[in-house]
Amino acid sequence: MPRLVVIATGGTISTSTDSDGVKRPTHSGADLVGAALADSQLITVELMAVDSSELTPADWDAMAAAITDATADGADGIVITHGTDTLEETALWLELTYAGPAPVVLTGAMRSADAPDADGPANLRDALALAADPVARDQGVLVCFAGRVLAPLGLAKVATADLTGFEAPVLGRCADGRAPATLGKPVRPQLPAASAAAAPRVDIVAAYPGADSTAMDACVAAGARAIVLEGLGSGNAGAAVVDGVRRLCRDGVIVAVSTRVPGGRVSAGYGPGRALADAGAVVVPHLRPPQARVLVMAALSGGVTVEEALGRWG
Ligand code: ASP
Repeated sequence: MPRLVVIATGGTISTSTDSDGVKRPTHSGADLVGAALADSQLITVELMAVDSSELTPADWDAMAAAITDATADGADGIVITHGTDTLEETALWLELTYAGPAPVVLTGAMRSADAPDADGPANLRDALALAADPVARDQGVLVCFAGRVLAPLGLAKVATADLTGFEAPVLGRCADGRAPATLGKPVRPQLPAASAAAAPRVDIVAAYPGADSTAMDACVAAGARAIVLEGLGSGNAGAAVVDGVRRLCRDGVIVAVSTRVPGGRVSAGYGPGRALADAGAVVVPHLRPPQARVLVMAALSGGVTVEEALGRWG
């Protein structure tokens, strides 16, 4: 009998809709698990019950600590139930820093637990089956959602109602509550980051027509060691932003350029993008701003250069 631990954190999968039509977490991990997987030893950990938009980096640390406790207790697999709004950040932080053999599978739902056609039960069933299956061993962190097994790296929420919820590299598909026979997940070396809460401040600033350096300067004044610039197109920005980036990079601030284009790739292939690179900015070729921020946080916290972290994970 596989020993599984379900760590509940909240999210739509745990919500019911109140009299004002607002979804709030009401279902515990034990409620969600119910009679699932009768042939497993199932332990639930009620870690938190929040909307994932309310999570902080300290909560990623709390999840990492709960994973450590679960593996110390001999868990064969761990499932985290989580809101979808920031699942891409939590999944990537854990993926960058967790090196144990027991799989950690994150899942959630697009519909509340009290919806007649709730998707949470099927997602949780698939996640438990995946966590219990030898195919997931040594695969680190996985995301199981709408019948697909997704890689944390490159995960992005792309829908607020559609049940698929996310775009990401698809590693396999669950069928009838069974894990896929194989998972083609590339193995990457972890970053030595210890605590997300203690990581240097990294903020995200958007470029847009007419933008200047006001927001970047305010972030640095508030203590940011790095800024992820949500660039335009393939990583471009206007001259006032480029001037600000040049000044900040000279002062030792790290500026990492991502893009506001869903699925877009960044390269210094146009004049303004080249000007950002020449000003000292680092190009983040593949990751959307939320995950670029997590990668930069982990790099700074682990004493690894952002370029090196991007080489391994970018
Ligand atoms: N606002 C919710 C959350 O992230 C959305 C969801 O879970 O789907 O907690």
